[in-house]
Order: sequence, then C-alpha cells, then structure tokens
Amino acid sequence: MKYQLETIPVWQALEASAPCPLCFLAERLESQYVSFYVGDSVMTPEIRVTVNETGFCPRHFQLMNDAGNKLGVSLLTATHIESLRERLHGDRKRLMRLASRRGPRKAKAFRSALEEMQSRNRACLVCDRMDHTMRNYAYTLARMYGDEAEFRTAFDDSSGVCIAHLPFACEVAADSISPRRREAFFAALFSIVDRDLESIHSDLGEFAERFDYRNTRPMTETLRDVVPRAIRKLTGRLLV
Ligand SMILES: [Zn+2]
Ligand SMILES: [Zn+2]
Repeated sequence: MKYQLETIPVWQALEASAPCPLCFLAERLESQYVSFYVGDSVMTPEIRVTVNETGFCPRHFQLMNDAGNKLGVSLLTATHIESLRERLHGDRKRLMRLASRRGPRKAKAFRSALEEMQSRNRACLVCDRMDHTMRNYAYTLARMYGDEAEFRTAFDDSSGVCIAHLPFACEVAADSISPRRREAFFAALFSIVDRDLESIHSDLGEFAERFDYRNTRPMTETLRDVVPRAIRKLTGRLLV
C-alpha cells in the first residue's frame, strides 16, 4: 500500500494523552464511519453498490443499529439482502454440483466454495476503511518519530501504544520506513511500552497491598482505576 502522512490527527492523538494514540484514533474513526453509513450519503448509488457487495461485521452492524437512524439501516440492510440472495443462489448451484461428486478435487473445490462464503461473511466496509486509515496513522507515527524532534520528545514521554496495537505498529513501520529509522523506532517503542508496563505492574502491587488490613496507607485515585487501566493497556480499546 502507498502510505500517506496524516500528521494532524496523529498529533491530536498524542496531545490527548490517551493511553494509546492508535486506540484513540481507531475509536474516532469508527464512530465517523458508522455515522457515515447510517447517514444520507449511503443513499448515493456508488455507496449502495459497495454496501450491497460487502456488508458489515457483527460489531459494526450492531453499532449502526444503535446509532439511531433505524430507517437508514433498514433500507441499507434490505438492499444488502437482495444482492446476498443472488450470491447465495450461485453458492447453492455450486455446492449442489459438488455434492454428488467424489474424490480429492471435489473436496478441494468444496472447501474453496465454503471459504469464499466465509470470507464474505467476515468482510466489513467499516473494518476495511478503518484498517486502511489506521495504516496511514501508524506510518505517520513511525515517520514523525524519526523526523520531528518535538514529536519524538512527546512520544517518549507518553505511554506508547497498547499491547494489542504493538505488532500492528511494528508491521506498518517494517513495511514503510527505512531500516535505520525502523531500528530506532522499535527500540524506542519497546522501551516506552516496557516502562509503562513496569509502572502499571507496580501500581497493581500497591493496589493489592491496600487490601491487607495491616496496611494503613490510603487508596489513591491512580490506584483505584489500575485494573481497567491494565486491561486497557493489554487489550486495547474493545474491552474497556
Ligand atoms: Zn491501542
Ligand atoms: Zn467491522
């Protein structure tokens, strides 16, 4: 993929002091895209075609339904079902043809027909668009870390990224920036993340100690939210 620099949102994410700038950006994108598909623009023919072909994953269908425009979601779902029925008609013919045959070639063709159906079920327009934009954001993060001293200092002072986004950040950097920049970025990224994990680990220890009746030190605000903070650091945005 050809990556694009998106400096403004990435700076905003860092300035928001979110636990993970990529989670912050993913949340924002998700709500933008969900609003887009339940808004008026989805009635335009070219958007309709993509909605009919691809559809949405369970999470994004649910978020669209929760967004409030029930009529919009019903129209979009109705036309999606029309094109789905046509495709299922084709699937049925294909599977029926294979049902009466035997042998390894048939088994392979059968598996590939089912895989095609499964991959259609997994497809989601919101997930696809988010993945594309998130790659640009991760690229921008890695590029700015190498190129801009002010950004580098701000990122060094941050919590880094969550563990869920760590391989993603590395994958995009490996695919998009020079080996020299990459090496420095990986070293910094892992140090920042480890420093944050160390601090969360120490807070977890202190939190647990407060449950010892001999411990008279007060429970602070920082300690009180350490468990959700730890879960969020480990799993990213979806579970918290
Ligand atoms: Zn994250
Ligand atoms: Zn999705």
